[in-house]
Amino acid sequence: MSTKKRIAIVPGDGIGREVVPQAVRVIQATGAPVEMTQFDWSAERYLADGLTIPPDGFAMLGRDFDAILVGAFGDPRVPSNIHAKEILLGMRFKMDLYANVRPVRLLDAALCPLKGIEPNDIDFVVVRENTEGVYVDVGGVFKQGTLDEIAVQQDINTRKGVERVIRYAFEYCERQKKQDGSPRKRVLMTDKANVMTYAHGLWQRVFKEVSREYPQIKAEHMYVDALCMQMVRDPRQFDVIVTNNMFGDIITDLAAGLQGGLGMAASGNIHPGKTSMFEPVHGSAPPIAGKNVANPFGAILTAAMMLNHLGLAREAERIEAAVLEAVRQKKTTQDIGGALGTREAGNWVASFINHA
Ligand code: ATP
Repeated sequence: MSTKKRIAIVPGDGIGREVVPQAVRVIQATGAPVEMTQFDWSAERYLADGLTIPPDGFAMLGRDFDAILVGAFGDPRVPSNIHAKEILLGMRFKMDLYANVRPVRLLDAALCPLKGIEPNDIDFVVVRENTEGVYVDVGGVFKQGTLDEIAVQQDINTRKGVERVIRYAFEYCERQKKQDGSPRKRVLMTDKANVMTYAHGLWQRVFKEVSREYPQIKAEHMYVDALCMQMVRDPRQFDVIVTNNMFGDIITDLAAGLQGGLGMAASGNIHPGKTSMFEPVHGSAPPIAGKNVANPFGAILTAAMMLNHLGLAREAERIEAAVLEAVRQKKTTQDIGGALGTREAGNWVASFINHA
């Protein structure tokens, strides 16, 4: 049997189709022992023959692949976004990828809009619950279109779901080092328990319980509104942050702003021991799609994160070092101050790896 790791590649829509090929060529440049298989699930495919993902798609991914690399989904020609929901949310929910891990790391001071911040000052990770919350699509409208209209959207928080993601955050803190090699030491839970007393009350109780199992890790808490302010005031204070699905979605866009924008942010959708899925934080960005201007580094750093997850740490490090060098030398796309196109920036990183 081949010892190569099997990776499913799903570029999707918009800039996903531009940045993923760059991530693929960078993986190839490292010579990592992987076998990549591409799937065309996308708006294009949905418009052509109505397919979002084959009925056995999720089972096949779980059975035949070690990891999945996804670009982005969303296309103005499919206003319902049905294909995106079925493919992306389907992967997260049906494959039960409960921990959405989003590292926030500043590679170069020039990329941060805050004054006086040095690269190693920002090196934290957000662990976002990925299978529950308001994203489960439970709710409805009543008397729609009338003055008496009522809209209800349920926020689902299960004991099991909350407990496993909080435990994941503590395990991550214990296991993963910071970029400078120092150990991680703190897990902060953020919520709005002062208003969402039932849902986030559960989070508070479970956080207290789980944190007792990790006496060597400092357990902290901050309400999400205060956290937003602190993230802008002094992002140095954060280490591992764990939160629910929606707050994780919101605060990681804010956090992406600290590291150079959406084009720089990577993420993994993880269920330990199962086939996990990796995707850049940005979406399909229709306004800039097809113009060769999208920043491929978020997708490339996502590929590095995936290789690391697959036990290919050396290859991951080579990719991260090459992106760091590209940022330092301004061999980047325009959004972060360079003058290169998507392909050219990917090419620069791939050839740096080839010649390093
Ligand atoms: P979603 O709703 O899934 O978040 P979206 O298409 O509404 O997707 P994004 O794709 O996340 O939003 O992007 C919003 C804007 O951020 C884009 O229109 C673009 O200006 C900028 N952006 C996002 N990703 C990149 C990138 N890789 N390179 C350059 N700019 C980007």
